[in-house]
Amino acid sequence: MTAVVVVGGGPAGVHAVQCLLAHGLRPVWIDEAPRTGGQIYRRPPPSFHRPLKALYGFEAGKAVALQAAGDAAAKAADYRPETLAWDIAGGAVHIARSTPGRGGSEALAYDGLILATGAMDRVIPLPGWTLPGVFTLGGAQVALKAQGCAIGRRCILLGTGPLLYLLAYQYAKAGAGIAAVLDTAPSEARFRALPKLLAQPATLAKGLHYTVWLRARGIPLREGIHPIEILGQTSAEGIRFRDRTGTEHQIQGDAVALGFGLKPESQLADLAGCAFGFDEASRQFLPLTDGEGRARGAAAVYLAGDGAGIAGADAAELAGEQAALTLLADRGIPVSSSRRREIARRLARLGRFRQGLEAAFPFPAELARSLPDAAILCRCEAVTAGALRATVEKRAQEINRAKAFCRVGMGRCQGRLCAGAAAEILAAARGVELAAVGRLRGQPPVKPLPVALL
Ligand SMILES: Cc1cc2nc3c(=O)[nH]c(=O)nc-3n(C[C@H](O)[C@H](O)[C@H](O)COP(=O)(O)OP(=O)(O)OC[C@H]3O[C@@H](n4cnc5c(N)ncnc54)[C@H](O)[C@@H]3O)c2cc1C
Repeated sequence: MTAVVVVGGGPAGVHAVQCLLAHGLRPVWIDEAPRTGGQIYRRPPPSFHRPLKALYGFEAGKAVALQAAGDAAAKAADYRPETLAWDIAGGAVHIARSTPGRGGSEALAYDGLILATGAMDRVIPLPGWTLPGVFTLGGAQVALKAQGCAIGRRCILLGTGPLLYLLAYQYAKAGAGIAAVLDTAPSEARFRALPKLLAQPATLAKGLHYTVWLRARGIPLREGIHPIEILGQTSAEGIRFRDRTGTEHQIQGDAVALGFGLKPESQLADLAGCAFGFDEASRQFLPLTDGEGRARGAAAVYLAGDGAGIAGADAAELAGEQAALTLLADRGIPVSSSRRREIARRLARLGRFRQGLEAAFPFPAELARSLPDAAILCRCEAVTAGALRATVEKRAQEINRAKAFCRVGMGRCQGRLCAGAAAEILAAARGVELAAVGRLRGQPPVKPLPVALL
């Protein structure tokens, strides 16, 4: 028996499932998380009570609406929380349940598949990044949202992108100490991006509010910096960086969170056979769609939300509905064409804002390219940047070949953390464009699995 399967319980997944249900289909709905909401509207455990306004800030109203929609859809669909989709092969999604006492694996044959798997932090390794006390920005936010704790008492937040400032604001509001917020993007980039950022004035205003609020409380914000190393012997103790004049500085702290924007969780799309293309603006390979949610290269597969390219939660809701409407139309089920046109119009507007963010917070490729030889690049396999550079002498032309030579990206995370920086380093060492070294091919399981589950 085949089914329509949706993977992901964030804004895109919720809206996809809601739309399928409204048109009479009952999909199987897979999500790793215990409850719907995804990253932005991630819920705390039931025993944990924090006012919604404190948890979600300006987005509290949207969080309530999305979570209520998710709860209602979960009752009507064949909803499988705490379930990992770990492979797609032979026309089936391979899943493993992690619910205590109800573990087990299963292959779900599909005749329609919507992947709404969201995103994760984009990481650039630095000397010292494997010390205890170093987190990603997203990880630091999960600690706050899902566990009500901060990563340290004097936190240094480092990287670039909207999450950097949002997290600083959320941490400071929750009472956590912030030693500094260090942005690799120069402030001029933001001014240049202004015309595109004005496509979403309310979102832009929120971003400005965060920085003004932080400055008013005396929290040091530095822009255009170049991080050199995370300091510490047995755990993170601070950071050394250069400012834009080249002067070196040190800041003491007991925890560091870093992140340089987001990257789509696209491994399942890869395993499903979707085509990928290189995106110059974000310097990464993205799964390709036809603009209506259909994946290129894989029949009956649809992509929605940040998993298909970072566009934010509002766009994810629309894209989830769009993918579901396209799936329904492809099966001959009547859908509203005016609604499809309206979604396309609104997504185009949000896309313009996204281009503005890309320009305002550019990915600091040079930081990855200049990672010292001795620094750990792939922490799962303890591969240094120098070991990767050495593969060029063995004629590694592209990243999968380099992986075979030095094991970069071969460990537990399958390169989800290091692959972007590894590609930059290999391209620089070979003196070629980034696109020329390709991307690491997805391998199952997409995330570690207990052997017992298989
Ligand atoms: C760590 C992090 C924190 C963020 N915080 C904010 C924020 O505070 N404010 C903001 O505006 N934006 C934030 N963003 C961006 C925002 O989350 C997204 O724009 C938005 O949530 C996208 O919605 P989505 O439905 O596409 O994906 P998500 O909300 O990420 O949902 C994806 C869902 O797919 C599930 N999933 C993924 N892979 C699998 C798998 N293999 N098997 C089973 N389930 C799977 C996940 O459990 C998740 O529930 C954050 C992003 C990240 C990565």
